[in-house]
Amino acid sequence: MSRIRLLSPRLANQIAAGEVVERPASVVKEVLENSLDAGATRVEIEVEAGGSKLIRIRDNGVGMAPEDLPLALARHATSKIESLEDLERVGSLGFRGEALASIGSVARLTLTSNASEHGSEGSCAACEGREMDVQLRPAPHPRGTTVEVRDLFFNTPARRKFLRTEKTEFNHLEEVVKRLALSRFDVAFSLRHNGRALHNLKPGVGQAERQRRVATICGPAFMEQALYIETDLPQYKLWGWVGLPTFSRSQADLQYFFVNGRIIRDRLVAHAVKQAYRDVLYHGRHPAFVLYLELDPAQVDVNVHPTKHEVRFRDGRGVHNFIFSSLHRALADVRPGAAAPAAAPVTTVDGLAVDTATGEISQQPGLSWGAPAAARPGGGFGGYRASAGPAPGQAGEQLRDYGRLQGLPEVASDEAPPPLGYALAQLQGVYILAENSAGLVLVDMHAAHERITYERLKSARASEGIRSQPLLVPRPVAVSQREVQVAAEHAELFRGLGMVVDVAGEESLVIRQIPVSLRDSDVEQLLRDVLADLIEFGSSDRIESHLDEILSTMACHGSVRANRRLTIPEMNALLRDMEETERAGQCNHGRPTWTQLSLEELDKLFLRGR
Ligand code: ADP
Ligand code: MG
Repeated sequence: MSRIRLLSPRLANQIAAGEVVERPASVVKEVLENSLDAGATRVEIEVEAGGSKLIRIRDNGVGMAPEDLPLALARHATSKIESLEDLERVGSLGFRGEALASIGSVARLTLTSNASEHGSEGSCAACEGREMDVQLRPAPHPRGTTVEVRDLFFNTPARRKFLRTEKTEFNHLEEVVKRLALSRFDVAFSLRHNGRALHNLKPGVGQAERQRRVATICGPAFMEQALYIETDLPQYKLWGWVGLPTFSRSQADLQYFFVNGRIIRDRLVAHAVKQAYRDVLYHGRHPAFVLYLELDPAQVDVNVHPTKHEVRFRDGRGVHNFIFSSLHRALADVRPGAAAPAAAPVTTVDGLAVDTATGEISQQPGLSWGAPAAARPGGGFGGYRASAGPAPGQAGEQLRDYGRLQGLPEVASDEAPPPLGYALAQLQGVYILAENSAGLVLVDMHAAHERITYERLKSARASEGIRSQPLLVPRPVAVSQREVQVAAEHAELFRGLGMVVDVAGEESLVIRQIPVSLRDSDVEQLLRDVLADLIEFGSSDRIESHLDEILSTMACHGSVRANRRLTIPEMNALLRDMEETERAGQCNHGRPTWTQLSLEELDKLFLRGR
């Protein structure tokens, strides 16, 4: 065995770089975060060859005095915290004091900075050799800092090999810039790649300016189909944009969640959001959102991961519950003609046309709020159509009820017409055509009826309770001690959902009673999953979710099929029901149930000027 030696500073830094500098995008993240921490209101990013050849970031922040430059390059040197107490309520993005040292050990790094108001002053620093000694020379620079990183991984070939194509690396890098740009609307960002200007985001904190930036970054289609939400409690605030369920994605690629201005990826948050969308999203689809959670910094631990992508909440359950209920409420209110959700003001964001190349935004008449544009050609993810089997009696009876109970609409002259207007006709046995004050309404009658039936079945269950039955042979389930404890704590929750689970021993439970509709489900697996959720998130919606799925299937089979002729009163009754029903903007599978064609749009189709 050889003797123990102290690592050279460069090697020690290279080892640390292993954690934070994975690729050009990670360099950009660290350097940009420093600019934001330095109070910059404008940052210019210039890269070449996907960032592996050059990354140059210039800011107008507070800058650094010449004597601070060597310290900035040293490991474990930071101006952001001094004590453990500072760390516990840290407000800056950085605090570990090792990013620049790490980057400097695996690339050619120079810092040019000026902390004074005189543009003629400033100095430039670079580190060299095993000991990473800092060379300092005067260099004029306006107030602020320029960080230049050339030839990333030039001295660590093993890491260099892991770099992907220029395009892939640039995509990662651009994503980092987008995230940071979404985190600070008050800062101007520009990005150039290989001499070409790609983004030029103007600063602004007004609602319109924020929306413009989100539309530029996430695409105008997202903005057209997003709700603005804002929930403010004493301990938490949540605001931002959530995509309507009809704007779901095949990948979880349009999900931005910021906690006190820091982008994070967190299982707890992901679970809360998923749970909120559960009932309105087609299986396997992902919601899109840009959300900001604000809470007392002492309530979040950001020092759990070197790149700080993960955080830990002191009150994870509280946060989970808050996010879930805020989003759930907002999504439930998506129905035709619904006013802004009470707790969550909804701003109309439709009709914004954004030129993605210039980021310019213009107003144009568009779809009204609540009218999912996915129903337009090319939108949504159509293709789904329930197999046209014979409609079970129930649906027909229900529809007859509509006709009998609600009869023909009474068009009172001084009363505002209902949001979905009055039925005109039925098209191909599939669509209802109706006229409202904005123009033409098109309803997919099966999708709409399915949602109405489903919501009815759910409220019947809520008022009448879940029918449940004892198992002839109780089912023993072997679990951990912790799971036994959690099951005992939540016995009431299980009972409320029609499931009786008793403790049978230190490491065993027994299922004695289950909801009738779960007869054919794997209840043992369900129980295990629920316990795992309860341990991790403090709540679980798996049983409801399962029960809902069964109701949803029932609703689907019990709903009007395509090709069924409806009378005008039946159609009107369906429209009125849609207006009353939560989540009526989508069917149980997340497809849109109706869309609006405004008079302006119709005029446009016929090239008729008004
Ligand atoms: P950390 O950000 O964790 O403090 P870094 O290695 O990223 O560690 O930066 C070290 C220090 O260098 C920072 O604490 C800050 O004082 C200084 N610094 C880095 N970049 C800038 C900048 N763009 N403007 C002003 N100061 C900077
Ligand atoms: Mg930093």
